[in-house]
Formats: sequence, structure tokens, C-alpha cells
Amino acid sequence: MAKGALSVDTEHLFPIIKKWLYSEKDIFIREVASNACDAITKHKRLISLGEAPDDETAYRITIKADKDERTITVTDNGIGMNAEEVDRYINNIALSGAVEFISKYENESNSGIIGHFGLGFYSMFIIAEKVEMFTRSYKGGDGVHWSCNSDGEFESSICERDGHGTEIIMHVADDEVAYLDNVKLRGVLERYCAFMPYEIVLIEGDSESVINDTQPLWQRRPSDVTDEEYNEFYKKVFNDYEDPLFKLHIVADYPLNFKGVLFIPKRKSGYDSTESELKLFYNSVFVADNIKGACPEHLVNFRGVLDCPELPLNVSRSYLQNDAYVRKIASHISKKVADKLNAMFNTDREALEKSWPDMKPYFEYACMRDEKFGDSARNSIMFELADGGYATISEYLDGKDEGTVYYTNDKDAQSYYLGIFADKGTKVLVLDNIIDNSFAQYFESKNEKIKFRRIDSGFEESVADNTEALTSLFASVIGREDVNVSFTSLGEDGAAALISLSEESRRFADMMRMYNMNSGAEAFKMPNSETLTVNLDNRIIKKLLENPESEGSADIAKHVYLSAVLLSRTLTAEEAKEFVRLNNKLL
Ligand code: ADP
Repeated sequence: MAKGALSVDTEHLFPIIKKWLYSEKDIFIREVASNACDAITKHKRLISLGEAPDDETAYRITIKADKDERTITVTDNGIGMNAEEVDRYINNIALSGAVEFISKYENESNSGIIGHFGLGFYSMFIIAEKVEMFTRSYKGGDGVHWSCNSDGEFESSICERDGHGTEIIMHVADDEVAYLDNVKLRGVLERYCAFMPYEIVLIEGDSESVINDTQPLWQRRPSDVTDEEYNEFYKKVFNDYEDPLFKLHIVADYPLNFKGVLFIPKRKSGYDSTESELKLFYNSVFVADNIKGACPEHLVNFRGVLDCPELPLNVSRSYLQNDAYVRKIASHISKKVADKLNAMFNTDREALEKSWPDMKPYFEYACMRDEKFGDSARNSIMFELADGGYATISEYLDGKDEGTVYYTNDKDAQSYYLGIFADKGTKVLVLDNIIDNSFAQYFESKNEKIKFRRIDSGFEESVADNTEALTSLFASVIGREDVNVSFTSLGEDGAAALISLSEESRRFADMMRMYNMNSGAEAFKMPNSETLTVNLDNRIIKKLLENPESEGSADIAKHVYLSAVLLSRTLTAEEAKEFVRLNNKLL
């Protein structure tokens, strides 16, 4: 029997491990399970090198909590250790890692440490007051029974043991008994070990269940993965009940080496810039969620997994967030997303159009937020056409890089105006999401000769004589001196008048509204930025023009005005009342 104390200030060691790792307590499971996986990998490797006999081991790792004994036991059938190895790897190496860790972090308030400094093994003391280990090397010989308490005092002795591998028994500390609960234990395992490379079996009473998927989808060849598999994977990993709208599987090997799968979730609201939901793995071992910088900021609403075997596992979150390598990965991802969108646009447009209404905001946002992404993807952004189908802005302009793009932001409210455009045979795009309007402005900023005009922003002007009297008649019924009146031709059956607001004024008004700066609509008074466009072809207008001062012309003019208002927005209560009065009188 050997006895000893883990040297160098050991009485400080465990409290410090507990303190520093407190915020990520659950990682002890990851550390123990990944050591077990490593032990199996090493055994497999020795066999393949001919250095260990192939005993056809059915490799597996088991985990079992025992509430009565207050223990969590983890077993593996990997290479195991003999007494000398326990001394070398556990008593010395692992300890030196811990000492290094402490010397580095003792004076720092960095609670974001996620990795290990070769102190993975000792991370068990986050929850254990004592750890026992039974292990036997694949080389045969005696087994070793090792145990260590939380003061760092260990004992090691020879024991009887069959087979090869390691059994670790954590005696759970009083304040950590929550981990003995299978629901809790399963949750932690599912979070940290979901994709480890060997079967991890949780034993609960008589039942056994495998926790992990040993062949994570991102490690497979994209051509071998079906759509259904991507959907299932997405739903399981991100707890969603709906299939994703978009998926992209990236396998990069040079100069960057990483694998990943990205998804666009089918969220109703489109984009809502929260934190990124990217899960970072290191060779299938979960490292962390939501690492800023690993996901390009403009793709923040995407979800995905990223496996970077070139990143050291023993790094902190803040390190990852500022790492140039991580940024390179992010920009590579961004490029791939743009490429995939363009490829779908070019070769699989029908499929793209199907989910486009839901996906569009994600891509519009990305174009606006990231110049490079926008330059490469904005010409694949499609808009619905008011009369059906989709068109990009370039398609709308027949490939020209100049012209006016007419759009509606509300097909129902602007239906009369839409009809005018339909009669003229002019196509109209539907930009009915707030982000569409920002996108239009962004697009204009990139193409100075392209202008977006809402369909109610003005009409082609016609000239007419002797219109002053009519203009002042409208001014007086509207109740404002400076009313803008213009003239146009909309045919005999067209509305007598329509209201328009120039694109610039409307954008300004929208902006004011957004900043909550307008003082509320003034009933009966048309804002002076609006224009009342009068249809010279209309018979009522012809009569009014001929005889603006005749009896009843004021009522008629007011009725014409309110009818125009009615085609552009809902009437106020006062306007509605007046409209009804006029109808009753005139009809
Ligand atoms: P790391 O895994 O980073 O080397 P750890 O502190 O987790 O550091 O483990 C220290 C060493 O102990 C490992 O490198 C390995 O040699 C040995 N070890 C730990 N767990 C096992 C195990 N289950 N089977 C065999 N060897 C193990």
C-alpha cells in the first residue's frame, strides 16, 4: 500500500478547484467521460498498432448514481492503468496541471474557465468529497485501488480485478447530492456528452439507456446525410418542434479545419437579434454555447454546431471571443452561407421560394449587417410580386441597374393604387416587413440609380387650365391654405381624387413615428406634405372645374376628398361622421 499527500499546498487545491470551476460545475461529467473515451481510443489504437491483443472488446462507458451510497460510478473498458501509471498520470501529472492552473488563476476573478489544465481528473472534486478508482491495465497484472479525499490525501493499493479498464467512484459531497438525481444527471450528460464517440450508458435501476449519438451528423459526409436526418438532428439539439428552413453543412479541412452545420429556424418573427445559438465542440466533446465571435454577428439568428479540433479545449470563453482563428472561421461560415443561398437561387429556385417568406428576413438582415455578405448575396434576395411569384430587384428592372421599383407595403390597404398599376401593366413588389423597407434603402445606397417608390407616392402629372378656383375650393373644405393639389389622368371611371405622399416625406414620417415624435393625426387636416391628386378625366371633377362656385360644390369637393382619404387609410371618427352626412345629403 502506498500513501501520500498531493504535495504543494494541497489543502488549498480542492477548495480552489471548487471555487474557480463553480460556475461550470457540470463539466466534471464531461471531464470524466472524455477521459473514459480517451482510454478507449488509446486501447483501440494500441490494437491497430499491434501493441495490444485484439480481445474484441465491446467498448462502452457506464454511469450510475446510487442515492443510498451517495455515489456516482463511471466505468470504462479502455486501457486502464497499472500502479506505476496511476502514480505517473494521476498523482503527478494531473496534479501538476492543477498547480499550474492555480498559479495562473488564483489572483484573477475569471469564473469563465471552461477547459482543463490537465486537471480534468481532479474536477471530480467539484462535487465529490472523496474519489475512489479501481483500474487495471490492458497489459494485465494486478489491479490498482486508489482513493483520494478532498484534502488531497491519497492511498493506493493492489487489488484483484478482471479485464481492463477503469472504474471511478465519486462520493458525492453533502451540498452536491442533487447530482444523484437521475433526471439531473441525465440532463448534464445530455448537455456535455451527447456526441462523444463511444456509447455512454446511463444505468437507472434495471434499465439502461444510451445517452449519446456516437456518430454526430456533422462528422459524417454531407452526401451521406438525408434531409430527414438534418431535421431530426436540428429538432433534438435545439429543442424545436419545427423543421429548420435552411441547412448548411460545412466541412473545411484547409487552411481552416472545422466542421459544422448551420440552420435557420422557422421562427415567426423573422429576425430578433438575440444571442447566437451556436454550440462549439472539440472533437465531438461539447465546449460551450453562445460564444460571441464564433458565429458571424450578422448570422446571429442562425443556429448550429461547430466542431473545431484545432482550438485547444482548455481555453476560456473570453479567449474564444477574441481569437483571430475563431474570427476566420466565422468569416468562412459567412461566405459559405452566401454561397449556398446563391446556389439555391440559381439551381433550386422553386424550393427556395417555398420557404422564402420565412427565410428572407434572415438574409436581408445579414446583407445589411455585413458588407461582404451583402455584396455577395443581395442579388439573390427576392420579393413577392403583388400579382404572384417572386422577383429580385434586378429581375424587376429587367437586368438594368437603374430605374424605379414600385412597391406596396400593404396589399389590402393600398388595393386601389395596386389596381391602377395593374391597369398600366406595371409590376409591383410587396415589401411588407419593416426589414424590407430598411433593405430597400440599403439597396438604394448600393445602387444610386435605383429608386424605390411606394405605389401611393405620386402620379404622373397632367396639365390643365383654370385650376386655381378648384384648388382653393379643396383648400377651403380641407381647412388648410397650403394644400397641395395636383392633376392627373386616371380615366373616366377612375377615382375623382387620390392622396399621395412623396416617398421622401413618408420615409421621414416613418422615421419620426419610429422615434415616437409625431403628434398624432390631425383629423380633417391633410398633412401639408400630402398631395391631393385630382383626376381630370372624372366627370365630377369636370363639373367642378367648369363651375367651382355653384351651389353644393363645397359638399361635393369634401366628399371627393374624404373618398380619397378612404382609399388611402381608415377614416377618423369625425371624418366618418362627416362622410355619412355627405352621402346622405348628396345621394
Ligand atoms: P488529461 O486528460 O488532459 O490528460 P486528466 O487530469 O483528465 O488530464 O487525466 C490525467 C491522466 O490520467 C490522463 O492523461 C490519463 O493518462 C489518465 N487517466 C485519467 N482517466 C483515465 C481513465 N479512465 N483510464 C485510463 N487513464 C486515465
